[in-house]
Amino acid sequence: MKRIYLDHNATTPVDPEVLEAMLPFYKESFGNASSVHEFGRTARMGVEDAREIVYKFLGTHDSQEIVFTSGGTESDNLAVKGVAHALKSKGNHIITSSIEHHAVFNPCKFLEGEGFKVTYLPVDEFGVVDLNALKDAVTDKTILVSIMMANNEVGTIEPIEEISKIVKSKGIVFHTDAVQGVGKIPVNVDKLGVDLLSLSGHKIYGPKGIGALYIRRGVKLTPILQGGHHERKRRPGTENVPGIVGLGKAVELVGKNLKKEPEKLKRLRDRLHYGIEKTIKFTKLNGHPTKRLPNTLNISFEYLEGESILLNLDMEGVAASTGSACTSGSLETSHVLISMHVDTAIAQGSIRFSLGKENTEEEIDYVIKVLPPIIERLRKMSPLYHGKQGVN
Ligand SMILES: *Cc1c(COP(=O)(O)O)cnc(C)c1O
Repeated sequence: MKRIYLDHNATTPVDPEVLEAMLPFYKESFGNASSVHEFGRTARMGVEDAREIVYKFLGTHDSQEIVFTSGGTESDNLAVKGVAHALKSKGNHIITSSIEHHAVFNPCKFLEGEGFKVTYLPVDEFGVVDLNALKDAVTDKTILVSIMMANNEVGTIEPIEEISKIVKSKGIVFHTDAVQGVGKIPVNVDKLGVDLLSLSGHKIYGPKGIGALYIRRGVKLTPILQGGHHERKRRPGTENVPGIVGLGKAVELVGKNLKKEPEKLKRLRDRLHYGIEKTIKFTKLNGHPTKRLPNTLNISFEYLEGESILLNLDMEGVAASTGSACTSGSLETSHVLISMHVDTAIAQGSIRFSLGKENTEEEIDYVIKVLPPIIERLRKMSPLYHGKQGVN
């Protein structure tokens, strides 16, 4: 059976060029990047070449502003907890949004337990952060604002430049989780006006377990780990050299493809959306209609549960995901959709299709062909549907 992967916001396949670039650092160039001998120097060169690719991609000139981490989650933790701990003598207030990834949300919750105060900004029906609420939330105790660049579930792109103007005019440190933005929309730290920015390897056709945090020069940060002098003590631990090299290659490739790849993704994504709307009744797009990642389509099929659609799609060889994560057997509705005031019943029927560079028109057409009979079959069995419609 044909297998079609439409879950790229969860993870992406490693690009063969990335794997190729990594292999020597598992084999002959296995040295510890801190060692002074030839083995170590070769590994160090791999790390620093990757660092150069990453900082140039982000539009900076300063290699010291990039710290390699174990992924997006660690980058977010280091940014949020690192800044909070470093600046706690200045204030104890943090502002974030109500639709952040758990990698930002839960560190904020953790900090609340330590006595920090956190404001979770509301979003509108499209998932855009309320700028007036941000202005109102800022106090002289605010030390950090963390707002994601683009949402992983619905793809809505946040107005980071406008947020930065508000935040920086008050001299507050500004972090953005750009894990979903990188490779899909332009990311330039100066243009965005951010002080810290997180990115992850496996969302951009790089390996899992590697990421980076951009830290603007002068921004104070208390490390999470204590150990050796690696990454200027901001992230001790022997460098994951093959991972770092892979991340560098992945960033290089998405940078090269940023001109045409997002266009292609958007065309395919819209083809899928149009095909679904044309053939299936009672659907609702979740997320901003235009200010949205070019690869992301989060759509609700009313009167149904996302999980059963997913399972049926999987049986047809199509991999997607739900907006609502299934936690320990109980259906927990997505905090993102709840924050967007999507009706709970409609939120339960949401499916996220997230496209990637290996997807083709034929694959999209296959999904458009297999999906309507699945929806029809499930709705026939749905008491909700019968109750509301009284017909098939
Ligand atoms: C995937 C993701 C993360 C976590 O990155 P990992 O590398 O998987 O730890 C953080 N933020 C967003 C928006 C993501 O999509």
